[in-house]
Amino acid sequence: MCGIFGIYSNKLSVVESTYFGLFALQHRGQESAGISISNGEQVHTIKKVGLISQVFTKEDLAKLPVGDMAIGHVRYSTSGSCVAEKAYPFAFMFKGTYMSLANNGSLLNIKELSDWCINKGVRFNGISDTEIIATMLSLSEKDTIEEAIAEVAKQLKGAYSFVVLAPDKIVGLRDPFGINPMAFGEVLGGYAIASEDCALGVVGAQYIREVMPGEMVIITRTSVKSSFVFEPQSRLAVCAFEFLYLARPDSSISGKNLYEARVRMGRNLYREHPVDADAVISVPDSGTPAAIGFSKESGISFAEGLIKNRYIGRTFIQPDQLLREVGVRLKLNPIVSAIKNKRIVLVDDSIVRGTTSKKIVKLLRSVGAKEIHIRISSPEVKWPCFYGIDTESQDELIAANYSVDEIGRMLEVDSIGYLSLKGLVNAIHLPANHLCLACFNGDYPVGVPEHIKKSKMGTGKSS
Ligand code: AMP
Ligand code: SF4
Repeated sequence: MCGIFGIYSNKLSVVESTYFGLFALQHRGQESAGISISNGEQVHTIKKVGLISQVFTKEDLAKLPVGDMAIGHVRYSTSGSCVAEKAYPFAFMFKGTYMSLANNGSLLNIKELSDWCINKGVRFNGISDTEIIATMLSLSEKDTIEEAIAEVAKQLKGAYSFVVLAPDKIVGLRDPFGINPMAFGEVLGGYAIASEDCALGVVGAQYIREVMPGEMVIITRTSVKSSFVFEPQSRLAVCAFEFLYLARPDSSISGKNLYEARVRMGRNLYREHPVDADAVISVPDSGTPAAIGFSKESGISFAEGLIKNRYIGRTFIQPDQLLREVGVRLKLNPIVSAIKNKRIVLVDDSIVRGTTSKKIVKLLRSVGAKEIHIRISSPEVKWPCFYGIDTESQDELIAANYSVDEIGRMLEVDSIGYLSLKGLVNAIHLPANHLCLACFNGDYPVGVPEHIKKSKMGTGKSS
């Protein structure tokens, strides 16, 4: 999971707009950030390890040439270390001109593609999906970058949504299954593309529509064009995890507002797993809309029981042993009066390994919760993701190895309930064959090569 952004404007500062666009997409990746800008003749890039607001100073941005087209990237690494060379956008040469590429996704046939490049004499420093795509573009003999992108895309298998910045255009492409989201809007004096429409709003862009699965959008200084690299297909695979956790609730995907979808998940969750209790609390922030839905459907009042420290990030200094004891309280602190002597429904969006829920349940007990009923607004995560989301190997997925009752006992809760697959799909308001639900049902719509599957499949009861 990463965030990408692209903008052309002859009225706004595109560097500032990209900075703010990436700031709105920070939840999609906190490890590194980068911006490329075109002044019509050349493409320049700056990139660093860390949060966008921490790593780029005003001076850094001022050093970039004045331009009117820019792209940006925030990275969440699914593999590889957190080093500046792994920050993007990635610069490459196409027909003697420097261009730059920012991608969100994960390729399944990276080995075949890198072998193909190596056979053509390419030497890689370290192979990443982005580097492979950029290298293939630079090897293309097509006349224009959009023709090269269309040619290369046909060889890619897996999840990808990317933007390419050339001196005279920005080209965006979304994979034919639409696994990752991509939104398109109009800004003052131009156009913008972003992983999520929440990033369009912050630069004053008017959301127009999504970039469709398999669609290429080409923004130049005089026009905006669209073409389909792949024929529209009836089987799509929009990531269901985007709807329930990954994307921001103020974003929309496939025309569905995520806040509303999450509220519906909470409503369905109560219908499937009703319980009598004094208060519904959420694991903030990702569990909050579903907790509100659960509260609305059940009539049990919603209370803020856990307060999140908003300044904690992945780059936070690892606490030493003493602090680790209080661990979770650095991130979440309870409001004792909302919990003490109460029967609590605790709503979260998902359980992956189970460590977070275990700590939170312990915390609620320590401040006197009388009963704890955990409700999860997604089905059990039993299968690893091969399409770019950093879920663990199957051995580490608690639901792949234990039954729901066993998980309830391990978490030491009074009751446990997960939303069913049917309840999730119903809440998203899209047909099941438009969604990837593989981490819940093991049905991988884009397939998974055997050698990759072996690397993450465990010995648990789901394999
Ligand atoms: P755990 O069960 O301890 O692995 O963590 C589950 C919690 O992490 C839930 O509260 C989710 O909101 C959040 N979560 C779910 N998927 C991911 C992911 N791919 N990366 C980071 N956090 C996640
Ligand atoms: Fe999303 Fe799960 Fe499919 Fe991965 S396997 S793309 S996380 S729904």
